[in-house]
Amino acid sequence: MRINCPHCGPRDSAEYTYYGDASRVRPSLTDTGVEHWHAYVHERNNVKGPMQEFWHHLHGCRQWLVVTRNTATHEIGAVRFAKSPVSDTAGA
Ligand SMILES: [Zn+2]
Repeated sequence: MRINCPHCGPRDSAEYTYYGDASRVRPSLTDTGVEHWHAYVHERNNVKGPMQEFWHHLHGCRQWLVVTRNTATHEIGAVRFAKSPVSDTAGA
């Protein structure tokens, strides 16, 4: 599997570290609801199909990326820097 880093270009996935679902929303720090924090920390969706994931280009530019990957086929869609606007994407 190759991931097209917006900074480095296409690189083997062995250069990256996977950090999971990028679509989860952290509860507000003032939110004291245990059920909200439990869901955020422990519950994961088992997505089959396109999913946004955090990947760290550890053996490259060390940037955090949001990669859209199809979990059934491993096809890579959009790749962007984690801190950039959603519209700043690079195709696979
Ligand atoms: Zn990179």
